[in-house]
Amino acid sequence: MHRANGFDGRRRMSEFDFDLFVIGGGSGGVRAARVAAGHGAKVAIAEEYRFGGTCVIRGCVPKKLFVYASRFSDEFEDAEGFGWSLKPARFDWATLVANKDKEITRLEGLYRLGLEKAGVTVMAARAELIDRHTVITQPGGRKVTARTILIAVGGRPVLPEVHGIGHAITSNEAFHLDELPSSIVIVGGGYIAVEFAGIFHGLGAETTLVYRGPKILRGFDEDLRDGVMLEMFKRGIDVRCNAEIAAIEKGWSQYSATLKDGSVLEADRVMYATGRVPNTAGIGLEAAGVKMGENGEIQVDEQSRSSVDNIYAVGDVTDRVNLTPVAIREGHAFADTVFGKKPATVDYDLIPTAVFATPEIGTVGLPEHEAREQYPKLDVYKANFRPLKHTLSGRDERMLMKLLVDGGTDRVVGCHVMGADAAEIVQMAAIAMRMGATKADFDATMALHPSASEELVTMREKSKAPVKAAAPAKPRRRKRGHDETA
Ligand code: FAD
Ligand code: NDP
Repeated sequence: MHRANGFDGRRRMSEFDFDLFVIGGGSGGVRAARVAAGHGAKVAIAEEYRFGGTCVIRGCVPKKLFVYASRFSDEFEDAEGFGWSLKPARFDWATLVANKDKEITRLEGLYRLGLEKAGVTVMAARAELIDRHTVITQPGGRKVTARTILIAVGGRPVLPEVHGIGHAITSNEAFHLDELPSSIVIVGGGYIAVEFAGIFHGLGAETTLVYRGPKILRGFDEDLRDGVMLEMFKRGIDVRCNAEIAAIEKGWSQYSATLKDGSVLEADRVMYATGRVPNTAGIGLEAAGVKMGENGEIQVDEQSRSSVDNIYAVGDVTDRVNLTPVAIREGHAFADTVFGKKPATVDYDLIPTAVFATPEIGTVGLPEHEAREQYPKLDVYKANFRPLKHTLSGRDERMLMKLLVDGGTDRVVGCHVMGADAAEIVQMAAIAMRMGATKADFDATMALHPSASEELVTMREKSKAPVKAAAPAKPRRRKRGHDETA
C-alpha cells in the first residue's frame, strides 16, 4: 500500500527492495515505520522477539501493572481507619502474572495490526547489517536491500563482573518468575531497582536494596532522594547504601550474597538492576561503518542520522534520554524528516519523568543542585506535609512538593513531587512549564480544594535551606496484616 502524500517512494522503488528497513519493533521503531509508511514509503520492519519492544513486553507497561498490584496491600491497611474491616486478603502471584501476560499479548497484537494496517511489511526475524544498504534476516538468511535503514534495537540489562553473577536475575526475568520470592536482594539505586523494591515489598517479599553509593537515585533532586529513601526505610525496605556485593552463591534453598564488608544476605532471589547498554553488538554496524560511543551507543546528529548518511538510529540504542515517549518522538521526527518533507527535531528540554516507587516521585525541569548553577537568583519553595488521607489511615507517610523559580524572570524551572499520583501531577505541571509559566502564574491559579496538588499554587514562603533527611529509621519488616502467600 502506497500513500504518496509526502515521499515519492515509487520513483525510487526499483533500486532497492524497500525505501526504509527498520531493525527493532519497539517504541521508536514501530512509530517510525508506521509514520514513514503513512508518508508513502515502502517500509519493512524486523523484530527478533515480540512487537512492542521493551516498554510493552518487559518494561513500562508490565512494570506499572505490577506497581498497581503491589499497592493494594497499602490500601487494605489504610481502609481500616476509614471503617472497613476486611477478611484476610490473599495474593496470588500466578494470577497476576497470567493476567499481565494476557494484556501484554493483546497489546502486542495491536502493535502488529497497526503496522500491517499502515502497509508495513512485518518480519518476525533478527536482522543484521551486511553493508550500508543490505540486511540479512534470520532465520532464513534472506538478504534485503533498503535505501534508508533505521536502527531501533533498544538496550539490554548489563551486569557487573561479580563471582556467581549467573545466579542473579534482571528485570527481564522478574516478570516471569514461577513464584513470588519470599525474600529478595535487589542491587542498584536507579529507576528499576527502586521500582522493583517497591513492587516486591508491596507484594510481601522481604526486600533489601543494595546500592553502591551514599544515596539512591543519583541525579534526581536531593529532597526527593532523601524523601523517598526515608519512606522506603519506614515501610520496612532494608536500604543498604555504600554497599556492594562481592560474591553470590547458591545454597540448598536460598542464595547468599556476600557483601564487600563481609556481611552475608540470604534471599530467595538476587536481582540486578545496574543499568542497561545499547543492543549494538553483533548487528554488523562495524561492517557498515557506523560510529559508536564508549558504551556501544550509536552516535547520531540532531536528526538521528549516524556517521553513515543513509543509516539512522532512534531510542535507547542512541543512549540520549532512555524513555519511551522520547524514543517515540525520535522515531516520529525521523520519519517526518526523511519521508514527510517536514524536517523535525526533538526538544529534550523539560522532559517529565517518574520513578514508580511507593511513594512515587515525579519530576520535570532541573534539580536544585543544577538550577543553582544555572540561575544565580534561585528561589526555592517547598512543602512537606502529611496527606489528608493519612490523617485517618494512620499511615506515617509524608508528601513533598518543590518548585524552583528563576528569581530573575520568575519562571518555574523545576517541579518535584513525591507522593501519591506524583507522576500525574507532574505531567500537568510540565505543560505549564513548557508554556513558560511563572511563579506568579502558579499563584494566580485558583486552588482545587481539597487536593494535594493545590500546594503547588499556594506556596508563598521561600525556603532557606534544603530539607534534611532524618536519620534512617531502623528498618522494620512489613506488617503482614493480611495473609499473603509467598
Ligand atoms: P525497545 O523498546 O527496547 O525496542 C527494541 C526492539 O528491538 C526490541 O523489541 C528488541 O527485541 C528488538 N531487537 C533488538 N535487536 C534486534 C535485531 N538485531 N533484529 C530485530 N530486532 C531486534 N520508560 C518510560 O518512559 N517509562 C517507564 O515507566 C519505563 N519503565 C521501564 C521499566 C523497565 C523494567 C525497563 C527495562 C525500561 C523501562 N522504560 C520506561 C524504558 C523504555 O522501555 C525504553 O526507553 C523504550 O522501550 C526504548 O524504546 P526503543 O524503541 O529504543 O527500544
Ligand atoms: P539506571 O541507570 O537508572 O540505574 C543503574 C543503577 O545501577 C545506578 O544506581 C548505578 O549506580 C548502579 N550501578 C551501575 N553499575 C553498577 C555496578 N557495577 N555495581 C553496582 N551498582 C551499579 O538504570 P536502570 O537499570 O535502573 O534503568 C535503565 C534505564 O531505563 C533508566 O535509566 C531509565 O532511562 C529507563 N527506565 C525508566 C523508568 C521510568 O521512566 N519510570 C523505569 C525503568 C527504567 P550509580 O548511580 O552510582 O551510577
